[in-house]
Amino acid sequence: MNMLELIQQDTGMVNRFNKFFDRGDIEECWLWKGACKIDPLGRYGIITVANPPHRRKHVAAHRFSLYVVTGILPDDKQACHKCNNPSCVNPHHLYWGTYHDNVMDRRNKWGKDKLLYNNIDEARSIKMLVMGTRRKDLDSLAKKLGISFGTVNGIKYGTAWKDVVI
Ligand SMILES: [Zn+2]
Repeated sequence: MNMLELIQQDTGMVNRFNKFFDRGDIEECWLWKGACKIDPLGRYGIITVANPPHRRKHVAAHRFSLYVVTGILPDDKQACHKCNNPSCVNPHHLYWGTYHDNVMDRRNKWGKDKLLYNNIDEARSIKMLVMGTRRKDLDSLAKKLGISFGTVNGIKYGTAWKDVVI
């Protein structure tokens, strides 16, 4: 079964999902309070999906949120945050986009050359990733993160993001 089918058959999932955030106004970010995962695009919530008779799986909480309102879960699309807040699960702040959309969105918000991080957790997770990457792989990491090689190189060699302590 694919993830969409698993989600559809896990009938308690919406109830579990609703327990881990406070539904606020449409303009507000609804922050996920459950389990989280950190990846290059930040710290975001995850929710378990029953997968009998196998081990449970996980799906990103913001993807699930967008699935609840749109009824689709496209493999080739990301649930992108208009609010730039990875742990937000307010579906009004989300849209299905490509990885490229996601990266461009962040560039537009942050400015192409002046990359700033959205919050300190995110900055730490990016810095940890950069520090754990070999010099020869920095270029592909920069592309993946959608930030300039100069910035990634600066993080690695201590000339950028000095204030971000990991
Ligand atoms: Zn939000």
